[in-house]
Amino acid sequence: MPNSPFTPGVAAARLPADTLAENFGDLHPPLEPHEAAVAADRCYFCYDAPCITACPTSIDIPLFIRQIATGTPEAAAQTIFDQNILGGMCARVCPTETLCEEACVREAAEGKPVEIGRLQRFATDTVMDAGVHPYARAAATGKTVAVVGAGPAGLACAHRLAMKGHDVTVYDGRAKPGGLNEFGIASYKTVDGFAQAEVEWLLQIGGITTEYGQRLGHEITLDGLREAHDAVFLGVGLGGVNALRADGEETGNVLDAVDFISDLRQAGDLSSLPVGRNVVVIGGGMTAVDAAVQSKLLGAENVTIVYRRGRERMSASVYEQDLAASKGVRIVTNAQPKVVIGNGSVREMEFEYTADGPDGLAGTGETFRVPADQVFRAIGQRLEGAPEGLALKGGKIKVDADGATSIPGVWAGGDCATGGDDLTVTAVAEGRDAAEAIHAALA
Ligand SMILES: Cc1cc2nc3c(=O)[nH]c(=O)nc-3n(C[C@H](O)[C@H](O)[C@H](O)COP(=O)(O)OP(=O)(O)OC[C@H]3O[C@@H](n4cnc5c(N)ncnc54)[C@H](O)[C@@H]3O)c2cc1C
Ligand code: SF4
Repeated sequence: MPNSPFTPGVAAARLPADTLAENFGDLHPPLEPHEAAVAADRCYFCYDAPCITACPTSIDIPLFIRQIATGTPEAAAQTIFDQNILGGMCARVCPTETLCEEACVREAAEGKPVEIGRLQRFATDTVMDAGVHPYARAAATGKTVAVVGAGPAGLACAHRLAMKGHDVTVYDGRAKPGGLNEFGIASYKTVDGFAQAEVEWLLQIGGITTEYGQRLGHEITLDGLREAHDAVFLGVGLGGVNALRADGEETGNVLDAVDFISDLRQAGDLSSLPVGRNVVVIGGGMTAVDAAVQSKLLGAENVTIVYRRGRERMSASVYEQDLAASKGVRIVTNAQPKVVIGNGSVREMEFEYTADGPDGLAGTGETFRVPADQVFRAIGQRLEGAPEGLALKGGKIKVDADGATSIPGVWAGGDCATGGDDLTVTAVAEGRDAAEAIHAALA
């Protein structure tokens, strides 16, 4: 008998292949040209537009929407790429509901913002699908820069430096570029191998050499890179995962949510990916929601997110929480993990309710259990293996407003560095701005 959502334990192929293909299809299908024209028409082209201020890369949103409205999506794409070379990915993955679209005056007036994200995708896809790379390099400067990490921060930095005429070598510990665009973001946000296609398109600028399988602290060192290059940019993200601090954490099938998501993103055949009948995800951010929703889409019967604080404190947006609920994920709040129960493999999780008290969040002593064949930890990532001598702050590489670290000639940005939110678009902004600062320093 084939497997189904009711098959006990952890099993692959709980759903037929065509259902899986449908489940993991594009979350927001692209706009057709006439739909884009209608969506663009809703923009008031505000003076001092709040949507621009809300965008971490400060894209001139009313300008690109006007360019779409006047039938020049190529010009719209250029407006976007000038600020954000990963505008194609950001159009797919940005939590627009807490950024530009939340700030849109039509959201305030009518509760229905201009569809900025989907319009951005319409413009960027037009240019990328045509295989056009609209930038050329400046005259060669003779300077070389090492970029460590081929995630959004590193790629944005490398592209801007290459445009300025510097020769860039991008080193990454993995065998493929893209960082979390390739290994982390939920499948249904970036379908059809878009992450790799975008990197290939970005590299068309020229002047960027890529070296994969090169880990900082192993095959390469910061001292070596400083000697070999005129400047170094670190965009290594957050490779470590926080521990649950629950008894029995080492029990089988208690896994890191990011590893599960990475396996899913790399799986050639989704039917080969095992998932529990009862899945419990611990955490309250995007990673928790992504692991939970994708477990459900793979065919888990019961998926429960458990978060230690109230719903309003979850870092997953209301939109993401609603997405999870719409897929049948249950969200339990104000509960913290106590004990992983199981002999060899997890069978149940015990949680304790929590409440805010004078000394912060504390357990109330009241407990409950949730059946679990698979438990995913999604309680935050941390920086791993920072090179010695780099000043850290709050567990991240300490940088100034330009991304400069405590070591001369070394800049950092993206998730690994202090600064804005851990989002793709913020990483792009920080990589781009560090490139401008490096260029100024090398002049
Ligand atoms: C599961 C998940 C889902 C997410 N979903 C979204 C979303 O929907 N929208 C959104 O905006 N953001 C999302 N984020 C956050 C977003 O992915 C990150 O903020 C963004 O990728 C950070 O970019 P980065 O370049 O700083 O780091 P990363 O994307 O992590 O890239 C770092 C790169 O450095 C490499 N590297 C690491 N250590 C070394 C080393 N020692 N030597 C050499 N190379 C190294 C890695 O292989 C990787 O390629 C999500 C994150 C996760 C974990
Ligand atoms: S705030 Fe909304 S209506 Fe105003 S310019 Fe931005 S997208 Fe257009």
